[in-house]
Amino acid sequence: MKDSNCIFCKIANGEIPSRTLYEDEDFRVIMDINPASKGHAIILPKEHAANLYELSDEYASKIFKVAKKVGSAMVEVLGCDGLNVLQNNGEAAGQTVFHLHVHLIPRYKDDCVSIGWKPGEADDTFLDSFVTKVQNIL
Ligand code: AMP
Ligand code: ZN
Repeated sequence: MKDSNCIFCKIANGEIPSRTLYEDEDFRVIMDINPASKGHAIILPKEHAANLYELSDEYASKIFKVAKKVGSAMVEVLGCDGLNVLQNNGEAAGQTVFHLHVHLIPRYKDDCVSIGWKPGEADDTFLDSFVTKVQNIL
């Protein structure tokens, strides 16, 4: 299903032109309009899902294959030193466009991209109940 108010639905389905790096029947990969680094691309499913929780299993099972295929070609062409595959869910996680997308961010030694966290300490009390509760849902 498409969402008529969603810009990424329109781009993914070709209603708004974009600089397309790859397209198949389920996905369009476009160049990010405000790239974090040279070659930054985003993978857009043609079906609307606001986030990972809404994504159909069919699209979920296919999207990492696209990341591998397109990401590998990008790395080969760019000769970059690394690649971050990133996907944000919710404002708190940095999501700004609410149509699921996967970022392919080429990394270069000494670039200015920052994706990181301060390593914390595992809390066994929390983990005991957390693991059990999640396992019960699954
Ligand atoms: P996120 O913060 O994970 O929601 O990422 C949204 C990304 O989409 C950002 O990197 C934006 O620069 C990018 N973006 C937003 N609008 C467009 C557009 N019209 N074409 C290409 N990239 C876009
Ligand atoms: Zn959409």
